[in-house]
Amino acid sequence: MTEEKRKERALGYVLACRDYGEADRIVTFFTVERGKLKGIAKSARKSAKRFSNAIELFSLSQIIFSRRRAGTLYLIEDCHVVNHYSHIREDLEKTLAASYFIELIDLFSLEEKPAAHLFDHLKIFLDLLEDGPFAPSLVRLFELRLLTLCGYEPALEHCARCGAPLDAGEKMMFCAEDGGISCSRCRRDTAAGIRVSAGTVKTLVTGRHLAPDKLRRLVFSGQALRESEEILTRFIGHILGKQPRSLRVFKEVLLLGNRR
Ligand SMILES: [Zn+2]
Repeated sequence: MTEEKRKERALGYVLACRDYGEADRIVTFFTVERGKLKGIAKSARKSAKRFSNAIELFSLSQIIFSRRRAGTLYLIEDCHVVNHYSHIREDLEKTLAASYFIELIDLFSLEEKPAAHLFDHLKIFLDLLEDGPFAPSLVRLFELRLLTLCGYEPALEHCARCGAPLDAGEKMMFCAEDGGISCSRCRRDTAAGIRVSAGTVKTLVTGRHLAPDKLRRLVFSGQALRESEEILTRFIGHILGKQPRSLRVFKEVLLLGNRR
């Protein structure tokens, strides 16, 4: 194996960034070409000019990197920002939503495993946040479509346990452990079930495969927003075995805002 460093290029979103040692930073990128990759940005804290805003969270950047040996950290040789998402950064709710999006992508993606469908998904929703007002429905649609892309599509039209079509007239209960709604024959009486209305189910089913340019036009009623937040965040927490940190922060900040 050659010891010579080969420089590579990739386009990626900054998913995470932490200080390392006296002057460096360790950055996690989510790239089209390589999936998630972690690299060290030398002197990133000493020299503000060197990487400027190309290693800020959810920036989209062109990265040049190299590595001497497999299994070691990449060295970030150079990094140029392609989209800094300045409108998102000017708005607290949008920033919180974008931070939640990148944390979910980080949690649902693997290192060195290209996942172009997840990259496109993140790009669609960051662009939607950047180009228009904040809407909580975008957060729910991000969660729902991410679950679908990752193979955890919640059962909404057919019983999660027996597969029978669900009757819109029956009382719907979503259970994270089952992976969706179960029919009245399969339903177990557990405290974990969440009541969900037919209207919410209809909104989510419509939003699941809607073309990106139509996502903003999908109207969620107040009830659909409340119920879908509960079932989707509970389901994600069940899959991951924890609640994403940025979701907690998001909820706390919005709660404070509502009290004012
Ligand atoms: Zn059933």
